[in-house]
Amino acid sequence: MLTGHHVAVIGGDARQIELIRKLNEWDATVYLAGFDQLNESFREAIDLDLESSQVEKLDAIILPVPGTDGDGKIEGIFSNQLIHLSEEWLKQTPEHCQIYTGIANDHLINLAAKVNRKLIPLMDRDDVAIYNSIPTVEGTLMLVIQHTDFTIHGSKVIVLGLGRVGMSLARTFDHLGAQVSVGVRSTSSAARVYEMGLTPIDMKNLENTSMACDILLNTVPHQVVDASVIKQLPSHALILDLASKPGGTDFKYADKRGIKALLAPGLPGIVAPKTAGRIIADVVSRLIKEGSRKENKS
Ligand code: NAP
Repeated sequence: MLTGHHVAVIGGDARQIELIRKLNEWDATVYLAGFDQLNESFREAIDLDLESSQVEKLDAIILPVPGTDGDGKIEGIFSNQLIHLSEEWLKQTPEHCQIYTGIANDHLINLAAKVNRKLIPLMDRDDVAIYNSIPTVEGTLMLVIQHTDFTIHGSKVIVLGLGRVGMSLARTFDHLGAQVSVGVRSTSSAARVYEMGLTPIDMKNLENTSMACDILLNTVPHQVVDASVIKQLPSHALILDLASKPGGTDFKYADKRGIKALLAPGLPGIVAPKTAGRIIADVVSRLIKEGSRKENKS
């Protein structure tokens, strides 16, 4: 339970709905900003007044998964207002107040450092990223099915990257009967791909490797799907780039070659916001409790 904890949820998408529901269920005092189109749904929650003394009570601030933009503005799909996370405002929070975000850009990292508040980028945590890979894979399957006219079974699929998302993708497409190869850069990852019964591709030597496939799934957040890779793909191939914006694909070149290439961010929030919100809520509630235990000891 989070009785006695004051938590502000600022902006976000459908994932935050489940998060707010859980925080209410666990008896936290919840303050909301950026949810004006939904206020009626959360009668227990309090409107966050950025000018008031509410700020001094906050144990945690939860930002949307994408965090802020480069100027500190926070977007939410349930409000037309952009909320600005300012240095002056954060300074009024108690010193132990933690800031949760999905991912943190340089602006947010610098801002948290300036005001000396702990910033927790949830997607950097293995537990969140691994749980989150489940809806990510389901969203990938949905898009692949929507954008191809052939079955996954029997298709030649290349997954680039064997991280938290790449591993779940490779395993799932293998289980569906695809012939899966995985692009990796270390010998240990190549050994893991082999152990999984799949075919490793050395990403340091792509120019001497055949990249011809029906479906190319990229999870590497650097430009790895370049012209030299794209020109090997047959015209019916689909490139699905899951890496964070701007992705790792030369989309212009793919377009020039007539290859369908899609950047597909935020899949958990699109295909399974309830599950994705619950994943965030479970971890955040544990961390808030841990944070307050440490606070009580010191
Ligand atoms: P991760 O665990 O860090 O995995 C990244 C993979 O990329 C690792 O295998 C890493 O190799 C490899 N890599 C990094 N730089 C490379 C380079 N220069 N050359 C070759 N390989 C390189 O990350 P993740 O959690 O799987 O997430 C992958 C991406 O998907 C991230 O950008 C994340 O933001 C995004 N994501 C998107 C969605 C969505 O809905 N589209 C959902 C979740 C995550 P090593 O292991 O050798 O370091």
